[in-house]
Amino acid sequence: MKAFNVALDGPSGAGKSSVADVIAQKYNLTHLDTGAMYRAIGLTLHDQNVKPESGQTLEKALADIQLEMKDGKVIVNGNDLTDQIRKPEVSTLASTYSALPAVRHKLVDLQQKIAANKGYILDGRDICDVVLPEAEVKLYLDAAPQARARRRLLQDQEKGIATNYEEVLNGILKRDEADKNRKTDPLRISKSAIVVDSSELTFDETVEAVCKIIDQTLKEAKL
Ligand code: C5P
Repeated sequence: MKAFNVALDGPSGAGKSSVADVIAQKYNLTHLDTGAMYRAIGLTLHDQNVKPESGQTLEKALADIQLEMKDGKVIVNGNDLTDQIRKPEVSTLASTYSALPAVRHKLVDLQQKIAANKGYILDGRDICDVVLPEAEVKLYLDAAPQARARRRLLQDQEKGIATNYEEVLNGILKRDEADKNRKTDPLRISKSAIVVDSSELTFDETVEAVCKIIDQTLKEAKL
């Protein structure tokens, strides 16, 4: 089998990251969680007190940030931020800073360099159309906001994060709104992507549906 890339887009909480982990194992790919990269940059800029509207200060701060994605860890300037970036407040920071063209430019460039040699599955919002328009397999994993909120609530509770359904649903709706309406690379269903709606599917059924699409696409492309 020739090396190939998978582009996986979708809204927050659709299960992209967990699905991508299983797909990566099954097809011997490396999973790059691009949301984790936006979270790490958002958290770092916020901690450095760099305001989103600060122009050159922002550009300078971005140039000084060294971001590494290594063995499932997210490292910024040598510090391991893997756990910190999962805090609910970092979701909002990621959403705010990810709307800035300078931030997107830096991360899209890095993501393209990482995936250049193929053998990757990237999950995010703009992978199909912007980051990997040449990806061999392109998918959009969707789910109703209520289904996503229920799943996110369970994950948060497992991690011991105090929250409730309304709060989680509200956060998801707000982030959907921001991700879909930002000017640069908004979240949208790429015309080239195949949509899987997981609202009524279990996790295993979702993985099965995604595998079917990957197998079919690779077969048709004779890979
Ligand atoms: O996927 P996750 O929810 O961790 O992403 C956090 C935020 O990062 C999203 O709400 C979105 O604003 C941003 N993001 C993005 N483009 C990507 C991945 C994530 O704008 N490719």
